[in-house]
Amino acid sequence: MGASALFYLTRLGCSDVVLLERETLASGSTSKAAGGMRAQFSDELNIRIGLECIQRFERFAEEPGAEIDLKQWGYLFLLTSASDRKAFEASLELQRALGVPSRWVSPAEVNDIVPGLVSDDLVGATFSPSDGYVTPEACVHGYATAAGAAGATIVQGCSATRIVVEHGRCVGVETARGRIATERVILTAGVWTRELAATAGVNIPVESERRYVWFTEPGDGLPEELPLTIDFETGFYFHREGRGLLFGGRQTSIDELGPVAAGRLPVLADLGIRTGWSGLYENSPDHNALVGSLSDPAGLLYATGFSGHGFQQGPVVGEHLAELALERAPTFDLAPFALERFARGGARPEHNVV
Ligand SMILES: Cc1cc2nc3c(=O)[nH]c(=O)nc-3n(C[C@H](O)[C@H](O)[C@H](O)COP(=O)(O)OP(=O)(O)OC[C@H]3O[C@@H](n4cnc5c(N)ncnc54)[C@H](O)[C@@H]3O)c2cc1C
Repeated sequence: MGASALFYLTRLGCSDVVLLERETLASGSTSKAAGGMRAQFSDELNIRIGLECIQRFERFAEEPGAEIDLKQWGYLFLLTSASDRKAFEASLELQRALGVPSRWVSPAEVNDIVPGLVSDDLVGATFSPSDGYVTPEACVHGYATAAGAAGATIVQGCSATRIVVEHGRCVGVETARGRIATERVILTAGVWTRELAATAGVNIPVESERRYVWFTEPGDGLPEELPLTIDFETGFYFHREGRGLLFGGRQTSIDELGPVAAGRLPVLADLGIRTGWSGLYENSPDHNALVGSLSDPAGLLYATGFSGHGFQQGPVVGEHLAELALERAPTFDLAPFALERFARGGARPEHNVV
């Protein structure tokens, strides 16, 4: 998110900007992500963002100018309950009205899309062919390289330790290497945003949740072009990764996930596990993004709380942060994602969370 904001700031003519990264670029949750991008959401704003971000990922080689391994093989949501069927049918209607090429798939048709799935307990599925996935780190480096070439400064291995506030305004950031004077601070520290925001007296309600993914050896015998397939009720998902598969879920060990995964895709039981890793989701109270700018302290902007779908929203949200920081008219109205929704007692739940 930070690299995207940096890129869009430079595109809007602001190169007097510093990106602070305490480790290395793309070392946070983004590097652990499955890289999925989709327009199959329930929230209208997420659908619109998804449509636009997919187009920007399609054009990434031209702008900012990087190869990101785009695999547009669709997303397939497998549904097993009547209540999820009802919710996804309503989402489909909204998606289609907004121009998403998503459609209902009968249980009999599921195996035409992914052979080898256990489908006898399904009530149906939804599929959208323009969804897919990319390589997240390649996107971060693409944005950062273009921003650097346009004059932005990127400092790696340097923590922001405190947001300095005076008389209700941001006036600087203290870092491990000294203070930077600035009237605008954009907080994109992922799941660590909460602790940094607290240094400015602000509560940003994000909670971490550890998520695991594993990578199989080759030999699954499935087609190369598989959609990113999600068993919505259990959270088990997989996609093609090299000659093997990447798979993950809500379960916190392979012993827990294994039976769930093989129950849906039996070939997984025969495949060796090559490696795996875990990363952190940054969950918000309603599983939807937290994006906006604060009036107290003035000059503090934030984007976090993406609850498992933050990587793919980078293009639109990064651009929005740049527009807010430079006081330009926003391309997308993301005001419904502002923190104030909770103070007003409201929430904006996203149902299609993986
Ligand atoms: C297993 C897994 C699978 C996922 N799959 C998907 C997916 O398929 N599609 C999708 O859209 N999303 C997915 N996500 C969610 C996605 O990874 C996140 O929502 C997204 O990457 C958040 O991006 P970010 O830039 O806000 O945070 P991060 O990528 O975490 O970046 C924050 C950066 O801030 C740095 N930082 C933190 N504190 C400081 C400090 N004090 N000073 C300086 N730097 C600091 C960190 O080092 C880090 O590099 C997945 C997440 C996980 C864990």
